[in-house]
Amino acid sequence: MLRTKDILDEKDPKLRKENSEVIFPLSDKDKKLIDDMLEHLRLSQIEKEAEKYNLRPGMGLAAPQVGVNKRFFVVCHEEEEGKFHDYILINPKVLSYSEELIYAEAGEGCLSVNREVEGIVPRHARITVSGFDKDGNKIKYRAREELAIAFQHELDHLDGILFFDHIDPNDPYKNCDIMRPI
Ligand code: ZN
Repeated sequence: MLRTKDILDEKDPKLRKENSEVIFPLSDKDKKLIDDMLEHLRLSQIEKEAEKYNLRPGMGLAAPQVGVNKRFFVVCHEEEEGKFHDYILINPKVLSYSEELIYAEAGEGCLSVNREVEGIVPRHARITVSGFDKDGNKIKYRAREELAIAFQHELDHLDGILFFDHIDPNDPYKNCDIMRPI
């Protein structure tokens, strides 16, 4: 299984590198990695398991965070208590997003950032993304609210961007009055 130590820290240059498009068919190694990433995220959100394996809770992981500079990410979203939905997006493209902006009121977190970061990140309230699943089938997702934030956070990773890059250290709550907190 994928352990905490397998996730790169924010200072690792691999997080800032260019990520290449995935070529299909996916290798068995990449397929296994995707399964392992999703397993990690799921367990991390179940308190008992997180404690057992010493995992920080997280809902998304992008390939560069585990040292693979390719354009894919996964999100494991707890839709209701104990009910998870897995998302796999390979070679994702943003089709559209809402004008309305939101931000995570508690601040965004990242499994590669092991410190508290003060400030908020503006995100679109809704986003439509297309991409491919593990078998190379074309897929499309419409995400809103928390899930939309997760998608935008992970899309950023594929462009070498970390969430705190969006925060102005001199004004970490800039424009919070024109965005909706969630
Ligand atoms: Zn992250």
